[in-house]
Amino acid sequence: PVAARADDVWKVYGSGEAEVIALRGVSVTFQRGVFTAIMGPSGSGKSTLMHCLAGLDSVTRGEVHIGETRVTGLGDSGLTKLRRDKVGFIFQQFNLLPTLSAKENILLPLSIAGRKPDDAWFDTVIKTVALQDRLGHRPAQLSGGQQQRVACARALVARPEVIFADEPTGNLDSKSGADVLGFLRDSVKTYGQTIVMVTHDPVAASYADRVIFLADGAVVDELSDPTPDMVL
Ligand code: ADP
Ligand code: ADP
Repeated sequence: PVAARADDVWKVYGSGEAEVIALRGVSVTFQRGVFTAIMGPSGSGKSTLMHCLAGLDSVTRGEVHIGETRVTGLGDSGLTKLRRDKVGFIFQQFNLLPTLSAKENILLPLSIAGRKPDDAWFDTVIKTVALQDRLGHRPAQLSGGQQQRVACARALVARPEVIFADEPTGNLDSKSGADVLGFLRDSVKTYGQTIVMVTHDPVAASYADRVIFLADGAVVDELSDPTPDMVL
């Protein structure tokens, strides 16, 4: 099954002299249970593609699907529901709420969606990210790596169709980064989670099953089972 799809997606910002063509007819399919890295130079359209896929930004032309949902053409309430129910996000800056405990942060997307957490699944996720002893801590009481593991748990606990990760290891030392990447890969292998990750880091990309390279708004190359030296 297909978790996400872009069909001939164009994205143009501005007009006239200020026009920027950020995506030039990108077509790409993300199969369920696959971990994909998106790489490419700064300004090549990686963030724009991810935002268009996730329903955070509209496309100028073409179509985007998340699972069975046609994102293109959804109104504001449809987009809000899509972001709430179908996608999860992991950011470079963690984006945890400082006044909430780790556990409250992890459960927040479910409470916003009015969904009850599945206790067994919550425990599984917490064990996988090794946060059993940190659930009552607030973000400021956690290391960067622990905070990013909270963010991973928050994304995974809702079992979204796709998790979008934007430079998830950009603010972590290499050991913490490896922990987070290992956890993301495990969630793909063990639970069939679908992940799309934007990264500059060849080591991070080597955790993915597949790498897509963007240049100047177009997909220019693709690799399976990358190693760090293949993506340098
Ligand atoms: P990347 O993530 O690969 O660095 P982006 O998707 O952020 O690339 O940007 C692709 C191109 O679109 C760049 O030329 C960038 O300046 C431009 N761009 C991105 N967002 C906007 C925006 N909101 N308004 C105008 N131009 C934008
Ligand atoms: P609202 O306006 O309804 O609050 P937002 O667009 O601000 O909705 O955010 C909806 C979801 O998208 C949230 O989960 C938020 O964390 C995420 N989000 C917002 N901005 C970005 C972004 N630039 N990149 C990735 N995810 C984002």
